[in-house]
Amino acid sequence: MNTYFIKESDFNNFIDNMLLQLPVIAPVLSSESVESFFSFEFLKNHDELRLDYDITILPPKKAFFPPRQVIIEFSHGKFHGTVNAKKQVLLGVHPYDIKAIDQTDFLFTENYEDINYTAYRNATTLVCSNIQTISKRAFWGSISHDVPARGHDAFLTKLTDLNEAEEEGYLFEVFNEKGHELLSFGQFLLATELQIQQAKSINESIKDKCPQQLNYSQDEMANTICRSFNNTALWDELAQDCFSCGSCNTTCPTCYCFNVEDSWNIDQQSGQRTRYWDSCMTEDFAKISSADGQSENFRKTTAARMRHRIMRKMVYLNDKLGTQACVGCGRCSIACTADIADPVNIIKRIMEEAANDSL
Ligand code: SF4
Ligand code: SF4
Repeated sequence: MNTYFIKESDFNNFIDNMLLQLPVIAPVLSSESVESFFSFEFLKNHDELRLDYDITILPPKKAFFPPRQVIIEFSHGKFHGTVNAKKQVLLGVHPYDIKAIDQTDFLFTENYEDINYTAYRNATTLVCSNIQTISKRAFWGSISHDVPARGHDAFLTKLTDLNEAEEEGYLFEVFNEKGHELLSFGQFLLATELQIQQAKSINESIKDKCPQQLNYSQDEMANTICRSFNNTALWDELAQDCFSCGSCNTTCPTCYCFNVEDSWNIDQQSGQRTRYWDSCMTEDFAKISSADGQSENFRKTTAARMRHRIMRKMVYLNDKLGTQACVGCGRCSIACTADIADPVNIIKRIMEEAANDSL
């Protein structure tokens, strides 16, 4: 690993030089009313870049796994793949989202490689950035916190609260050749030991500042959730205001379910196959056809779907991933109009109920 420093006064040039050569996807202000909302978009110039964002509406996985993507075109009995990934930079991804991307990398390659995903993933240089502003529903400081963020090519930390004698700027850690290539776009200097220590301290101290905490171990949570599986009154209570919109899934960086749909052009000879994000919280997700021309839904109720979502996040994938399938970003809590999707509140309620039952 090599560690560099770029002065604040040189940073905009770095971004603009990069933009001359490569498409850059980065956090920008997407709307501002009472609150500011941010999203990952193709950057047009350095003015748009907002590395001080708190959270983006959708996770950065959309750079490799878009919400809707045509994957095949077919015509007169022949077909061809349409995925055409080009080199790009995904810049400004917070560590919790890096962890989610790492999970998706594993899940999309563990048995059969999902080439639509890996084509974009491999073509992308992934640059993590430190968290400057904490989202109001975040709890990444207390879930999967012992799992290191990995899979990124470089890490940018804004150095703040410096002595007057020290120059403001960014520490830039480079982990591999992809990260190294970015150095040619800016006036980088070798970082000093003091700058390296300052960045370390900034990234360590932020971990305790999340507004929400889950103060249970992974096993404690998983075991209690499993024991509560048949507590139908509890799941009914947790899901009673759910209107099955699916927003808690579609905003989640670790959700990766999708559906595939063929659509035909008017000639009835050609068309395309599209894949799009799906959500296990929607009513039709688990609806299947049965042999007699009827259909069956094996998770009919909102309670069954809520239970499935929590089992997926906190139990089912733990062994495979070595951690929970939740990185504590808090997007689901913000997106849920009924304000019932927050894993912190759900788990606390489950733990409280289990403690009452054991009295
Ligand atoms: S929990 Fe909230 S966001 Fe999720 S499906 Fe129900 S209403 Fe929608
Ligand atoms: S379940 Fe909610 S808090 Fe956890 S990773 Fe998904 S969106 Fe973020």
